[in-house]
Amino acid sequence: MSSPDQTQRFLFDQSQIRGEITGLRQSYQDVLSKHNYPQPVQRLLGEFMAAVALLSDTLKFEGRLSLQVRGAGQVRMLMAECRDHQALRAIAQYTDDFSDSAALLGKGQMAITIEPDQGKRYQGIVPIDDNDQTLSRALEDYFRQSEQIRTRLWLAADGQSAAGVLIQAMPQSASEGSLQSSDTDAWDRVTHLADTLSDDELLNLDNETLLHRLFHEEQVRLFDSHGLHFECTCSRERCGNAILTLGETEALQVVDEEGAIHSDCQFCHQQYRFDRDEVTALFSEHRQTLN
Ligand SMILES: [Zn+2]
Repeated sequence: MSSPDQTQRFLFDQSQIRGEITGLRQSYQDVLSKHNYPQPVQRLLGEFMAAVALLSDTLKFEGRLSLQVRGAGQVRMLMAECRDHQALRAIAQYTDDFSDSAALLGKGQMAITIEPDQGKRYQGIVPIDDNDQTLSRALEDYFRQSEQIRTRLWLAADGQSAAGVLIQAMPQSASEGSLQSSDTDAWDRVTHLADTLSDDELLNLDNETLLHRLFHEEQVRLFDSHGLHFECTCSRERCGNAILTLGETEALQVVDEEGAIHSDCQFCHQQYRFDRDEVTALFSEHRQTLN
């Protein structure tokens, strides 16, 4: 991966098929550095981060796209999000007695949530089962069932880098996502070629080399890439809003018991502390804004 931490679009010039390719290194390392995750959880986090980067780039909206899974396996919760096509963060919660041999997610449910800055929040739910189905399969099912857009994904992560490729039939005005017969041939050919991609190639080749190796007999147009980085959306203001939802009596009770209200962001470990005066000020300012 010569140019990591970016996504790049590509297009098959002679058919209604488009693609996205992403590679993550620093953004992925920044997420892993916040917790001491077991190796299999690191890999899963990388795949989820690559997936949100790819999905976010297929949608034309400003806002937040997230994938959140809750499983019956050792990983109880895993969440990755991409904001405004560039800011990534992710977190996983897993059992204390983690074992490499037991199921990672087991049977679970995955929520795909799209929260545009303007407009309605959307959420789709798909089952996920890592006994017989990977994240890419679950996402492909999601596109087939809800969007009816033919989509394939290839994801890989190894604790150092994470990467992904998405290939999608372009929505067409008459029948969304359906292809002309010549395009169906192209779809079969292109996805068959992408199926030959090894995790090693996906993680280590730069975009141009990888696309050339796979599709040198197709006409592929590669667009400008854009950057991705780790960024948390926590803030003192958001933390204050969370305290307001407790109500003043309960908030002050916490202050009495613990000296102050402490909050540690799970994503970035930023610590926020509100002492009695700050909690009191928070509620009095809030009352003023209501009046
Ligand atoms: Zn944070």
